[in-house]
Amino acid sequence: MPEHVVIVGSGPAGWTAAIYAARANLKPLVFEGAVTEENRMQGTLPLGQLAMTTEVENYPGFPAGDLSEFFRTSLPTEHHWMIDMHQKEGCSGPELMHLMRQQAVNFGTQIVTDDIVEVDFDSHPFQLKSLGGQEVEALSVIIATGARANYLGLPSEEKYKNNGVSACAVCDGALPRFRDKPLVVVGGGDSAVEEADFLTKFASTVHLVHRRDELRASKIMSQRAINNPKIAIEWNSQVEEVLGNDSEGVTGVRLKSSVDDSTRALDASGAFMAIGHTPNTTFLAGKLEMTAKKYLKWTVPFRTNTSVEGVFAAGDVADDYYKQAITAAGSGCMSALDAERWLGSKGL
Ligand code: NAP
Repeated sequence: MPEHVVIVGSGPAGWTAAIYAARANLKPLVFEGAVTEENRMQGTLPLGQLAMTTEVENYPGFPAGDLSEFFRTSLPTEHHWMIDMHQKEGCSGPELMHLMRQQAVNFGTQIVTDDIVEVDFDSHPFQLKSLGGQEVEALSVIIATGARANYLGLPSEEKYKNNGVSACAVCDGALPRFRDKPLVVVGGGDSAVEEADFLTKFASTVHLVHRRDELRASKIMSQRAINNPKIAIEWNSQVEEVLGNDSEGVTGVRLKSSVDDSTRALDASGAFMAIGHTPNTTFLAGKLEMTAKKYLKWTVPFRTNTSVEGVFAAGDVADDYYKQAITAAGSGCMSALDAERWLGSKGL
């Protein structure tokens, strides 16, 4: 028997789609991703990008406060280590994701801890194959595989992730370690300028490090950065190494000039990478319409339809603009409603 809905991906979009599909009695099957070294290295383990962050302060419904008893009673004991470890106020990314996953499980979601590596959308029911060799037939599919932030690929950058290195100013910028300290933002596009601008609320100075002598960002955004007295643009510069130590985390960066290879150090308590994202769509090449940057295309305005009828997309995999947990969750909900209505309209 084919599955009614197969959901590929396990971030906020995937679990919200699962909660809605499960409550509509569609018994969704979620492929939450495989636990492999490759996925660990590229940041695509189960539970997605949020599972790699620390505090989440902007997801509605989780104000600061001691939520440990709530977590303890909401999550099965095997996940209580997170609560015992953090002992802090509010919600963390991993806790939020485990809560969403548990909510989906509570309503009867089936879960396979594996990647989908091959799809056949030419015939119906659709065929999907996992890394471990499992083959599944699906009447409808929701793709919610997200995107991964690009990093420079430096060992020192990897070492200080979550200890001063971040790829999300909106998520991490307000943390105490960044207050009234100099910060570095790497990149020259709209994201970099926006993040630099946002971080000036907290930082003493924001060094915007760009490898060329001209920003890629739109004129209006570029002008905003140039006019902001708290932003210092470090032109023609590349981060060669993130500097730091075990107790303080990031303490600065070493820059290398793209013009004459000279180097210099900058003090900073944080280094924010804003050099773009890569959507997790490789396994869909040639199967669904994508943008030039390989994001899935929504083909109907205000709906989550893709170029194949019965296949829907939710979250960052189809969104290179908002890229927030709450917007991903919202489109996950939309995709489940779209799938349910499409199945109903076909009598499936
Ligand atoms: P982007 O436009 O692709 O810019 C990426 C930036 O990172 C570029 O400046 C690039 O340098 C730099 N970069 C890439 N790899 C690098 C590396 N290895 N080392 C150093 N620098 C590197 O990405 P984005 O800024 O995330 O924007 C994505 C899309 O969202 C864009 O279409 C953007 O307009 C849109 N967006 C809009 C807004 C807004 O309107 N408010 C806000 C955010 C994003 P080069 O310039 O030298 O290539």
